[in-house]
Amino acid sequence: MDRMSASIIDGRALSLRLRESLSERIKRLSRRGIVPGLFVLLAGSDPASQSYVNAKEKACREIGIRSFDHRLPEDAAESELLSLISEANADPDVHGILVQLPLPGALDQNRVIGAVDPGKDVDAFHPLNAGRLLLEQDGMRPCTPLGILHALEAYCIPVEGSEVVILGRSSVVGKPLANLLLFRSSLGNATVTVCHSRTRDLGQVTRRADILIAAAGQPGLVTADMVKEGAVVIDVGVHRIEDTRVPGGYRVRGDVDFESVREKASFITPVPGGVGPLTISMLLHNTVVCAERAAGTEKTA
Ligand code: NAP
Repeated sequence: MDRMSASIIDGRALSLRLRESLSERIKRLSRRGIVPGLFVLLAGSDPASQSYVNAKEKACREIGIRSFDHRLPEDAAESELLSLISEANADPDVHGILVQLPLPGALDQNRVIGAVDPGKDVDAFHPLNAGRLLLEQDGMRPCTPLGILHALEAYCIPVEGSEVVILGRSSVVGKPLANLLLFRSSLGNATVTVCHSRTRDLGQVTRRADILIAAAGQPGLVTADMVKEGAVVIDVGVHRIEDTRVPGGYRVRGDVDFESVREKASFITPVPGGVGPLTISMLLHNTVVCAERAAGTEKTA
């Protein structure tokens, strides 16, 4: 019998639903005179960072979150960033603070992120939130891992007891995601393996995965021979590939060789339209949670 190709995990459709429910929560806040506010700090002119920040601000506008946009030149002084962050920490109209990474040049990322009020840290990169995550304590959770967990839950993909292999050990994706998947909860309790650039025989490891999550930043790294029949494949990678035949002059692809892997997987996320929109939705979610917390109306869901 011919095998069906994988079902697509539609990040855009999931995001739409998430944003509808956030929109209701924003309306409830506005009835109390509160408009959730997101402070966005972008230093430098990296095109990918600019396009992420534009997409985040557009999503904020569409849903009724006020964004406070601060763009600084490549050679901005660290003291300038720190003073803007300090103002945002103290500003009651700012509920969430986002510093777009990577920061250019000589700026000390740890010092800048460490200056953000952990209660407004919507990216959850502050060491306090990272520590709380490690200890399974309440705190902000990073947006991309949250988006991935949401997709697994929405598509009823069992996590508990499954073999999850993550490609990449960054503090933004791989490590926090591994920790969340280890939580003693229904969306956790997985057996997690984290691979990186020194992992020997990557294919041997990835073929064990019931759920394979690629966040290595290497276009097309995951090919069909590295995937177990019926595995769930989540592609976090985002790469702009120059292509003069398409409008805009580039197309976007992920870490997974989508066409070959979809013939072997049971579920797969596309790029674009998979993890990306979910990441932005979770940023909106975290901002709304911060605003609700400030208003004393936080929901636990
Ligand atoms: P990163 O900080 O560059 O980390 C990449 C990780 O992958 C590192 O741990 C690296 O290993 C590992 N790696 C590199 N080559 C590998 C290989 N051949 N085999 C196994 N592991 C390998 O990247 P990141 O910030 O986590 O982002 C990863 C990708 O996701 C990028 O394409 C990024 O653009 C994308 N991303 C997308 C979203 C979204 O919303 N869709 C959000 C965040 C990131 P070492 O530690 O040994 O160097």
